[in-house]
Amino acid sequence: MQRSGRITLMPSRKRKYRVDLVIPVYNEAEALEKAYAQICGVVDKLPHEFRFIYVNDGSDDGTEESLASVRQIDRRVTALSLSTNFGHQAALTAGLDHSTGDIVITMDGDGQHPPEMIPQMIELIAQGYDIVQGQRAEEARPSFFKKFTSDTFYKFINAVSGTQMVAGAADFRALNRQAVDALKAMPEYHRFLRGMISWIGYRSVILPYHQPARIAGHSKYSVGKMFRLASDAIFSFSLIPLYIGLSSGLLFFALALIQLSWVFWLAISKNTEHVIAPGWSSLMAVMLIASGIIMILLGFIGVYVGYIFQEVKRRPIYLLKKEG
Ligand code: UDP
Ligand code: MG
Repeated sequence: MQRSGRITLMPSRKRKYRVDLVIPVYNEAEALEKAYAQICGVVDKLPHEFRFIYVNDGSDDGTEESLASVRQIDRRVTALSLSTNFGHQAALTAGLDHSTGDIVITMDGDGQHPPEMIPQMIELIAQGYDIVQGQRAEEARPSFFKKFTSDTFYKFINAVSGTQMVAGAADFRALNRQAVDALKAMPEYHRFLRGMISWIGYRSVILPYHQPARIAGHSKYSVGKMFRLASDAIFSFSLIPLYIGLSSGLLFFALALIQLSWVFWLAISKNTEHVIAPGWSSLMAVMLIASGIIMILLGFIGVYVGYIFQEVKRRPIYLLKKEG
């Protein structure tokens, strides 16, 4: 993927685009209106036709009311309400499904995706890129914990997956219609959009940005949600965990053969009574480790079976409660 640092932004031929801003929100009542005002401060100066597609991901604070008041003053705002909290990736999917614009920009509703990047994103799409992928600048990581988990995750996923993913990539990106349609053609239930974006290919470019602090409230990505996202990424994009089990099994099979040959050799050299009894503890160790590995392998298979089960059920990724 090309980095935008090396790209010179030449003013493209002036075309007026229909741009949809897809913004998932979960309990963002405190931040929503300020973040909306910040976006307006940027997009109202641009010549394009903008539409805000807010996706209320089952919030139980005043998010619905905040959305209603924004809708009252701005006819460009559409609010989709999901029937419960389906998660960020499902909410993004709902927004993408409802988009009709030439360009779709997905961004967070807490002000952490700076709207100042929007003109540059549109310009890059106008210059012929299909995907403009926002990437958090290195120093902007919110905490040591987030930085550590994110760095480890991307190192691991790039080692085990056939799809290379950009470290620090955020769900802040612009897509042209072709890329949106490609994503819409992927109906999988376990969604890791950053991986899906890399998988679909097309002409993409990375655009680094500095991430400001949240306007208000706290992160809605609990540790549980982060684990679920990591699990969706690993098990949807890699079969390596299955091979880890398989290769460990082969290794232990080889060790068992070596051990058998050793015992056999002791037997024919008539030395058995003396040596086999002290070997009991090592034998137990090997047995325990081997059964541990079998358990882990079964666990991996279990996860894949679970994923297959959920895919074959063809459940909807989200359910709408209200659209307006
Ligand atoms: N979000 C969502 N559903 C969820 C969790 C988060 O729609 O279950 C939204 C959230 O309101 C925000 C965006 O996804 O607009 C990113 O979440 P957050 O800011 O909590 O993540 P962080 O920036 O801490 O990684
Ligand atoms: Mg955030």
